[in-house]
Amino acid sequence: MNRRKFVHDMIVGTSGLMFLPAFLAACKKTKLEFDHRFTGDVIIIGAGISGLYAAKILSQYGNNVTILEASDRVGGRIKSLSGYADFDIELGAEEIMGDHSIWYDMVRSSGATFVENSGATLYYFNGSIKTEIEATENTFFNAMNQIIETIGDYTGSDVTAEVFANLAGVSDNVFHIFNAKVANSIGSCDEHVGMHGLRSIEERRASGTSKKILRNKSLSSILENQFSQEMEKVVLNSVVTNIDYSGAKVSVTDNAGNVYSADKVIVTVPLGVLKNNDIVFTPELPVSHTYAIQQIGFDAGLKIILQFDDRVWPTNTGKIFGPGLIPEFRTTAAIERSADDRFLTAIVHGAKAEELSSQGIGIIDTVLQEVDQVLGEVSSHYVDHIIQDWGNDPLFRGVMSYDKPGTGNARSALSQPISDKIWFAGEAVHTGGHQGTVHGAMESALQAVLNMLA
Ligand SMILES: Cc1cc2nc3c(=O)[nH]c(=O)nc-3n(C[C@H](O)[C@H](O)[C@H](O)COP(=O)(O)OP(=O)(O)OC[C@H]3O[C@@H](n4cnc5c(N)ncnc54)[C@H](O)[C@@H]3O)c2cc1C
Repeated sequence: MNRRKFVHDMIVGTSGLMFLPAFLAACKKTKLEFDHRFTGDVIIIGAGISGLYAAKILSQYGNNVTILEASDRVGGRIKSLSGYADFDIELGAEEIMGDHSIWYDMVRSSGATFVENSGATLYYFNGSIKTEIEATENTFFNAMNQIIETIGDYTGSDVTAEVFANLAGVSDNVFHIFNAKVANSIGSCDEHVGMHGLRSIEERRASGTSKKILRNKSLSSILENQFSQEMEKVVLNSVVTNIDYSGAKVSVTDNAGNVYSADKVIVTVPLGVLKNNDIVFTPELPVSHTYAIQQIGFDAGLKIILQFDDRVWPTNTGKIFGPGLIPEFRTTAAIERSADDRFLTAIVHGAKAEELSSQGIGIIDTVLQEVDQVLGEVSSHYVDHIIQDWGNDPLFRGVMSYDKPGTGNARSALSQPISDKIWFAGEAVHTGGHQGTVHGAMESALQAVLNMLA
């Protein structure tokens, strides 16, 4: 295969990619200058979407791939729960962000159908719940929405969203709605998120503005459909503890003492695992990488699924923004997948998630009190719950990465290979503004593999 054909196939051909990510379009010319490509043994750490996708591309080009996964399942932050409700509940990623992406194409080619009706939004402020129309009768609510609209054009210094909101005049009575819309929605809180990072989120729109949810399938079933061959290469229950890249080959050791050897390694573990130094590198990682790991934000986060014996909210309710520790509740009506519509998901990230998580068995009492506050005394209809606490899970230690003040070019630094042996990939390594998404994780894997093969 000539190198031009290799690069073309890599990007749009045999890999099945119909979509050329913006950052790859920008470097396409460079890719055409490749002289040769690497083939050899590659170990991938982590069997989330980025690990599976990296394995798929590497295998297509004749590399021998092994994936070491710490848990007893593949998928990472794609985690679907079947059999609990009359639809599959997503405990991690849920929405397909945009329809110009590798991920969207994959999901569509798996036979998925989509739901786009997000239902009506309810807002709790000034002591009562309000419909969108009622909320827009309030001056402070309208002013807050106008302030949010200006974020894409922000030119000031890299302060937190909280400082920005205070300076811009977001009123106290709707501050929690600002937090829910702006920071909680990207895995953090307004005390932590930086304004320059928020501005760059506009780049996400390159993948499209739609947010689709699957009607007839779970995201885990898409992985099974699309990555069945890669799943055979996964070693489950292998918690990697050491990566030694001091010799000609890279040596990887797991918690059971198994030692694996490869020419190159791709590390796709969540940023929280790297921040906590759960993997020891020999020699130590360069300062550029350790600094980058600390500079990128990664906060606690929970999804709590509440089951009621009946629907206890108005028909066609989609989201509810509350004033307490739970910034956002989502109903199942919004996704039109449930016949009885009696499941509510509480979504909380950042400082509030840390506080809620620390309550242990008290979590559910707090959540039900807040449900009662926003919906009236409905907790007598509560039946059961499921708590997915991502921040408290040692294999994740958080929910998704975000830019805090000063994150700057940290993702770019983290994406640089080390000694032509170690690459980082995963959502936190995406350099084009698509961090914290499934398609961003895939694009980072593609970028790492293209660089490695060169
Ligand atoms: C609650 C929540 C909601 C989300 N909502 C959306 C959404 O609506 N839309 C969207 O596009 N994205 C969403 N995301 C983000 C999306 O899920 C992630 O960006 C993406 O799945 C990350 O993939 P990844 O491969 O980078 O990492 P992961 O999926 O985290 O995979 C990393 C893997 O590494 C493994 N691992 C950890 N430590 C070790 C070790 N020491 N040794 C071996 N393996 C290890 C982990 O077990 C895991 O399987 C959401 C995420 C969460 C948590």
